[in-house]
Amino acid sequence: MTDQPTPMMVQYLAIREANPGALLFYRMGDFYEMFFDDAVAAAAALDIALTKRGTHQGEPIPMCGVPVHAAESYLLTLIRKGFRVAIAEQMEDPAEAKKRGSKSVVARDVVRLVTPGTLTEESLLEARRHNFLAAFATVREESALAWVDISTGAFQVMECSLPRLAPELARLAPRELLAVEGADLDDLAADAGAALTDLPPGAFDSGAGARRLSALYGVETLDGFGAFTRAELSAMGAIVDYLDMTQKGKLPLLRPPVRERAGGAMQIDAATRRNLELTQALSGGREGSLLSAIDRTVTAAGARLLERRISAPSRDLALIHARQDAVTALVEDARLAADLRDALSRVPDMDRALSRLALDRGGPRDLSAIRAGLTQGAGIAARLPEDAPQVLLDAARDLTGHDELIDLLDDALVAEPPLLARDGGFVAPGHEADLDETRRLRDEGRGVIAGMQADYIALAGVQSLKIKHNNVLGYFIETTTTHAEKMLAPPLNETFIHRQTTANQIRFTTVPLSELETRILNARDRALEIERGIFERLRGAVLDQAAAIGQAARALAEIDLAAAFADIATGESWSRPRVDDSRAFLVEGGRHPVVERALKRKAEGFVANDCDLTTGETPAIWLLTGPNMAGKSTFLRQNALIAVLAQAGAYVPARRAHIGMVSQLFSRVGAADDLARGRSTFMVEMVETAAILNQADDHALVILDEIGRGTATWDGLSIAWAVMEHLHGANRCRALFATHYHEMTALSARLDGVENATVAVREWEGEVIFLHEVRKGAADRSYGVQVARLAGLPASVVERAREVLTALESGEREGAARPAALIDDLPLFRAAPAAPAPARAKESPVDARIKAIHPDSLTPREALDLIYELKSLT
Ligand code: ADP
Repeated sequence: MTDQPTPMMVQYLAIREANPGALLFYRMGDFYEMFFDDAVAAAAALDIALTKRGTHQGEPIPMCGVPVHAAESYLLTLIRKGFRVAIAEQMEDPAEAKKRGSKSVVARDVVRLVTPGTLTEESLLEARRHNFLAAFATVREESALAWVDISTGAFQVMECSLPRLAPELARLAPRELLAVEGADLDDLAADAGAALTDLPPGAFDSGAGARRLSALYGVETLDGFGAFTRAELSAMGAIVDYLDMTQKGKLPLLRPPVRERAGGAMQIDAATRRNLELTQALSGGREGSLLSAIDRTVTAAGARLLERRISAPSRDLALIHARQDAVTALVEDARLAADLRDALSRVPDMDRALSRLALDRGGPRDLSAIRAGLTQGAGIAARLPEDAPQVLLDAARDLTGHDELIDLLDDALVAEPPLLARDGGFVAPGHEADLDETRRLRDEGRGVIAGMQADYIALAGVQSLKIKHNNVLGYFIETTTTHAEKMLAPPLNETFIHRQTTANQIRFTTVPLSELETRILNARDRALEIERGIFERLRGAVLDQAAAIGQAARALAEIDLAAAFADIATGESWSRPRVDDSRAFLVEGGRHPVVERALKRKAEGFVANDCDLTTGETPAIWLLTGPNMAGKSTFLRQNALIAVLAQAGAYVPARRAHIGMVSQLFSRVGAADDLARGRSTFMVEMVETAAILNQADDHALVILDEIGRGTATWDGLSIAWAVMEHLHGANRCRALFATHYHEMTALSARLDGVENATVAVREWEGEVIFLHEVRKGAADRSYGVQVARLAGLPASVVERAREVLTALESGEREGAARPAALIDDLPLFRAAPAAPAPARAKESPVDARIKAIHPDSLTPREALDLIYELKSLT
């Protein structure tokens, strides 16, 4: 006989089938249970026990579960590991189901689909980071990208061709990307660290999207928000559709969509972001990134704004100047800045509180967060002087006019409300007479019970008699079983009605006690009901003002950011850069904020350096040579970071800076560091370099670090050489080029505007000392052998390498004396003619091996291997 599934299993399987692609959290009492494959996958991902429950089609059913009260942390783990989770709740009291009959199951339904891009819980979100959900849509020739942070309601859209998608995803770092089935964006999404969710074409219908958006904002036409393309409507529509699906009809609060203008921000592609470690270090975390080194904001919203500004430095000159003015005002008035930061540190995350309230996942604490935020905001606005710069005045305007709501919340809420509305106790006394009266009844009842206990002690003559309360029996009278006989016999049993006997206790009720209990319970329920009503009213009042509150939250973030920039400017002696639309690039006494911070921890000083790439008729390019570890990469990056900071509206780590607006920022690092991956890495390097040469315009800033090093010497040098000529002749942009090919320094004589610079080192008793000083001129030697020694190569190997080097160098000198055939006077390596070996009785194996070396054909890796080989021959 095949076993029939239980009614519960029938329900489970139906819900399971309706929610494909997600783990199903199936609520059973105090647990979310998972069954079948879900259980197997979840048990492994969560490292929890896998058990069995009953059978299905003759097989035991695998099961695992997590307690409801701890579900959030399990959810987080699952989402991080790439799962989606459908949460099925019990939709009725189990008692209701029982009334329908013994076979009937508690009604359950999925109330929410939890996905990486749709989180709202405080514990699942990083406070100081955005959590974006993005959608990419193509309609005929056009495509667009829309993105939303449902935890703050920020909703944006832009035109975005497919080739621009990767850099935009790199900027936004969305957690989840929606695309139409078959769009083939798996790799792009994976590179950006986003989970890809395929949706059917219907979700991307632009007409339906427009209708859905109009309905959402209650407008006839969307024209008031901007003129959207079909592709933009499609992308935004897909987002709204997906939110509707995952939130099961409860739409989050979405601010009206803002259309981002293409060309409004400095373009920075994914590889550049990675290299420069703008918001994320190469190691993956925030620590070690520019963002973490300079973040002095005191609010979560301020930190998120900083991340946005650093990710997309502006190209709007007026805006940059306005933001700089705000920072300057706070640099000049340290008292004011300190006062503001003090007030800001008491500002909670209003954006996220608002969004939880909108989704009906909020509680009294979210109301009090709004109260605290608006209250501090009003105080902050009052502190700003009338002649403050425009950015601050605009913020002050958005922070005023909330008095009515503040008063309402102040009057209604206790000072420190509990988390959940369910348990009541958050409405302040005096707010509503009805509630006060009901609470008085409830509390008086408790007083009456104390009196009743005294009466019953006297009546029964049992001193230890107590009136107690538990959730099963409610109020009851309890004595020890030693008094059982007396209590259960007349006349006492006329008053005391027996309810329960346990091992040591015997429990009773009385008619007056039951009546009193009913009165207390009624009063309690009534009080809770009144409080719930008040909560809904307050929530409504807050949501009515949602737009204005959002505006106030943004104003606070803006002030926080300006004050944070002022704080670091003052504390770290940064200066206000002059930003204009020239092609200047002058940095005096520039520093790398992240490296400097790391050195400070080790109590070492950072050597400030100048850079001048000011470009007029001819483009200015610096060719930087110097040994490894001298500080070339640091110098390159610090100048790029200074450009980013300047256009983000911040001060910069330099004594003086003049930055002509940078339209695009490119940074590439040669791939030789990753020898193990061989050719393919070199290929990547070349593809990335090609992208620069094809895209960089004359306002770009390009930083190339050891390009060409991923291949053999000849190839590498030739490529580096040609790249440099192209940057100079075709792109005509400002560029910094670090290389270890000393031969390239000859370019400066051939190309106008190309200058040689080197990071100075000093040799002292055969050792190299890094001065980290950038000077004009070319490095004379590479000091590779000395660096190898610092790295701990055995002394004998270093000694031998020195000998080999001397031999090679003398060979090179002789070779260079002959006419050069390849390119003009390019002093390249020549095949080393065997330097006459010192006369010896018999040629040693080492000598023989050295003779056989053709340095030109050696990659750096082979050279190192060779040293090992030589060592083994001695
Ligand atoms: P390269 O690119 O020339 O190999 P790096 O730029 O990686 O060298 O610098 C190597 C190390 O030298 C850095 O990690 C840092 O500790 C130190 N360094 C670099 N520049 C400076 C500087 N201007 N002042 C002080 N220390 C520096």
